[in-house]
Amino acid sequence: MPLRVRARGLSSTPSVNRTAVMGTVACQEVYGISGEATAEAVNQELRRLDALWSPFRPGNIVDAIRNAAGTVPVSVDDDTFEILSMARILGIRSHGTFDITADPVIRLWRDAARAKKSPPVEQIEKMCNLVDIADLRIGTDRKVFLPRAGQGIDLGAIGKGYAADRTRVIYESAGIRHAVITIGGNVLVMSTRPDGAQWRIGIQDPRLPRNELFGYIEAENCSIVTSGDYERFFEYSGADGNLQRFHHIIDPRTGRPADTGVCGVTVMAASSSLADALATAAFILGIEKGMELCDSFEDIHTLFIDKKGLVHPSSGMRERFRRIANE
Ligand code: ADP
Ligand code: MG
Repeated sequence: MPLRVRARGLSSTPSVNRTAVMGTVACQEVYGISGEATAEAVNQELRRLDALWSPFRPGNIVDAIRNAAGTVPVSVDDDTFEILSMARILGIRSHGTFDITADPVIRLWRDAARAKKSPPVEQIEKMCNLVDIADLRIGTDRKVFLPRAGQGIDLGAIGKGYAADRTRVIYESAGIRHAVITIGGNVLVMSTRPDGAQWRIGIQDPRLPRNELFGYIEAENCSIVTSGDYERFFEYSGADGNLQRFHHIIDPRTGRPADTGVCGVTVMAASSSLADALATAAFILGIEKGMELCDSFEDIHTLFIDKKGLVHPSSGMRERFRRIANE
């Protein structure tokens, strides 16, 4: 059956565009005659935000804020002001589980991963003491300040969501109605599919190799973000010589990779930044408290997959999630 084409000039085959950015791959499917050019414009925006917020670009704004910690406030651009303001509120609402000031601890674990051994306990404690979202001062003059030397910010758990929200604005202003973009675990869908059906967003089975789907979520015009311990992790050999594994979501309360029996959390929301931050917070909080946090926001649907492979959907998610039997 041919696709039902809704607008004149709307091509039924999308422009498909893939690019490596933000430490992952961004993949777009954009419908419409300006699809290809718009996808390129989106890539440029993703690269711009990556340059601003990457933890690996000396001299960018994140680096400047870290270097000025304990000394002087730093003037920031509009995007940085916006993401920091949002991250601060969400950090406080998530009881500091999603906490962009976890930067010193995150760096410690990143270095540990490179050295292939876990960080010394005293170092974990020292770095943990520098983490406190309430310390982050954001003035109405767009000046940002961290009061103690050694403090820093890491936008890894919200930056891709912010980028997806910016993408939506670019699609809208280019007149694109139907599109989907995936940036790592962040998915944004515009409207429905061109044939009017809901998009289907695959949820990977955390225990199976990449691309083996556990189920899918039917959705339109929203963002769906997954945080999991299986996407990015470090391996190192432990004191006993056995291979150990730690993943990249750090619980700021312990200074260690979060371990609450959750394998993956998927959050569906209108705002991708919100979904991204909540997915990270919910992963750290675990099923019960994580669900409570997500439910305290309006129109958020959540799905947890626990380490036994059991699915825990919120009531709204139950209507949208379809399981695929792999057995
Ligand atoms: P992914 O980056 O795989 O999409 P997340 O959105 O959960 O997953 O973000 C994890 C990244 O966020 C880490 O790589 C690190 O840079 C940063 N991070 C880790 N723990 C926290 C935390 N508790 N709060 C805020 N950011 C964190
Ligand atoms: Mg996140």
